Amino acid sequence: MRILLIEDDQMIGESVAESLKDSGYAVDWVKDGDSGLSAIGCQHYDLLLLDLGLPRKDGIDVLRSVRQQKKSLPVIILTARDAVEDRIAGLDTGADDYLVKPFALGELSARIRAVLRRQSSSSGPHLTNGVISLDPVTREACLVGATPLRLSAREFALLQALLVRPGAILSRGELEEKIYAWGDEVESNAIEFFIHSLRKKFGSDIIKNVRGLGWMVAKVS
Ligand code: CA
Repeated sequence: MRILLIEDDQMIGESVAESLKDSGYAVDWVKDGDSGLSAIGCQHYDLLLLDLGLPRKDGIDVLRSVRQQKKSLPVIILTARDAVEDRIAGLDTGADDYLVKPFALGELSARIRAVLRRQSSSSGPHLTNGVISLDPVTREACLVGATPLRLSAREFALLQALLVRPGAILSRGELEEKIYAWGDEVESNAIEFFIHSLRKKFGSDIIKNVRGLGWMVAKVS
């Protein structure tokens, strides 16, 4: 999952970006509204975390532009503006949720999971294709009936990207986009490496290679 964070506060930005990276998200962080809109224009994101008080373009204006262009991009507002009118304005402009600063990082993670869950085909808290199930809270995966195994942040990110839409083929570039942010060093065989380690844990059939196109998890249920 790739997240864009638009936040001009250095400390909040750093702690949010670090904690989300530790949870296996690819996070791009920009510090003003214009840079945020440019990023959205050239990169696919699964979620936007948006501060409202921003230099160069106010968060509400950013949200308005986002909604004109990318209607389906989920947006969570992070704001110190706790006045009821501001919250109403944010939700009316098209935000999916909001958090008032200061907030606990654990609550932010839970809200991100809730918003992403609404976008995916799974209805419960776990992502599954009927064969393998992934718990976004503990970052554990298990084959049905077997003991859960904890995944590394990158293994988790890769399996999550595939399990959001079982049956959909993701190319190498699409998978890299889900697990690496700007500035991350991408090794040329990284995707194969993580797929190999997931297959070692859960069996070689768990991720299928579609020659010339990419990889998928089977759509079973
Ligand atoms: Ca701000």
